[in-house]
Amino acid sequence: MIITMRGESVHTDHQQVIRYVQEREFQTHLLAGSGDVVIGVNGRAVGTPLLEEVAELPGVGMVNRSSKPYMLAQRAARPDGTIVRVGNVEIGGTLPVVMAGPCVIEGAEAMIEVAQAVKAAGATMLRGGAFKPRTSPYSFQGLGEEGLKILALARDLTGLPVVTEVMEPEQVDLVAEYADMLQIGSRNMSNFPLLRRASAAGKPILLKRGFSATIEEWLMSAEYVLAGGNDRVVLCERGIRSFDTSTRFTLDLNAVPLVKQLTHLPVVVDPSHGTGRRELVEPMSMSGVAAGAHGLIVEVHPTPDAALCDAQQSIDPETLSRIVANAHGIARLLNPALAAEAGVTQLRVA
Ligand code: PEP
Ligand code: MN
Repeated sequence: MIITMRGESVHTDHQQVIRYVQEREFQTHLLAGSGDVVIGVNGRAVGTPLLEEVAELPGVGMVNRSSKPYMLAQRAARPDGTIVRVGNVEIGGTLPVVMAGPCVIEGAEAMIEVAQAVKAAGATMLRGGAFKPRTSPYSFQGLGEEGLKILALARDLTGLPVVTEVMEPEQVDLVAEYADMLQIGSRNMSNFPLLRRASAAGKPILLKRGFSATIEEWLMSAEYVLAGGNDRVVLCERGIRSFDTSTRFTLDLNAVPLVKQLTHLPVVVDPSHGTGRRELVEPMSMSGVAAGAHGLIVEVHPTPDAALCDAQQSIDPETLSRIVANAHGIARLLNPALAAEAGVTQLRVA
């Protein structure tokens, strides 16, 4: 059962509902901070009388019998959506957020240079890996904690909030000390101990889709974070495995409008890993935004061919600035309020 509290409800209303339900031997999960307060109730045996009684309690907006296994992540829990704040950036609002930076943090000077280029291009978040999930144990694995320090320095110099990957539960506290947002990589989407630990750190989470994961498996992983009491989850579609080897992965843009229907969480697109090919990053960025993504995460390097990791999919800052401008342009064409503000004609879409 899902209980969505009204916007004007107060803490004592939430506590009263939780107490009422717990006294009847059901477990509750509170989701708060980034949208309507939601109380999830575990258990198949929730009967109609309890549903009706709860609906009468002060501050209660909607009560739904939950049919989804991802009880807290489902759209019905928070019909108005979740807006995830990372520093001064809001993900899930009307304008797409562009996160950009190198695949891996290569050194202080290089990181500062790319961070300044990312900022000048108009992106509002900085990415960069310090702990890298490399396919080969012989490839550069990242700078570790030194990389995190460099990333935090780049954040301080540019004011851009930073997102970086955490690969192990034991690393969560360390990475959370430096990062504004924790990235759970594709290969770790189903690492449940990592999800639990990352949830408990209380930082926003960028949850990449496992490249062989179904949409439901992906949303169940998001549910782990939500069930841990952290409602700051952003989903990231980053391409799935298909039979075709002409691209690194196949960017599943079906996932964007679909997860927007199924869940209240924001969704962003990674056209870099999704294609593995530099020349496809710009068109697939545009396509992702046209499909309704709340943002993009893109790999950028001042000299892409010289990048220490994922050179073949890294774009230059000039391409990034076109992507940012055009992403905002496309969002304006699709959103009535933004179109009116910008004086452009909104495209007729359902
Ligand atoms: C990354 O974004 O640096 C990365 C390794 O991505 P993924 O987990 O999607 O492969
Ligand atoms: Mn990469």
